[in-house]
Amino acid sequence: MLKEFKISTTKKQEIIDITEKVKQIIKNSGVEKGLCFVYVPHATAAIIVNENYDSSVCKDILAQLEKLIPSKGNYEHDKMDDNAHAHIKASLIGPSETLIIEENELILGTWQGIALVEFDGPRNRRVIVKIKN
Ligand code: ZN
Repeated sequence: MLKEFKISTTKKQEIIDITEKVKQIIKNSGVEKGLCFVYVPHATAAIIVNENYDSSVCKDILAQLEKLIPSKGNYEHDKMDDNAHAHIKASLIGPSETLIIEENELILGTWQGIALVEFDGPRNRRVIVKIKN
């Protein structure tokens, strides 16, 4: 089954927890065992699976990516669209994650969650969830 939901981001760069939304889709699907593919069809956003408990982790991830790939730089793409850094960051992190479903639940570590990473907000983002049993 294929489901989709929207996230409106509010900042230039931010990490938004989407774990509960994905869990709800799995619950409603009734799928007991299978795979859950979470994907953003965007070139300047990404999906991560990481700690969602302490917000300092998200701050550190964004701050260190900013050090590696500064928002302002001598980028070719900035001549036509001022967001080259966002494309590079998004391509490094990747647009998707695949998770395992067992007993109609996602297998996630105690501190793990699924999050959308915005690199060129604020924008309206689509999140696509494919569940396969
Ligand atoms: Zn661009």
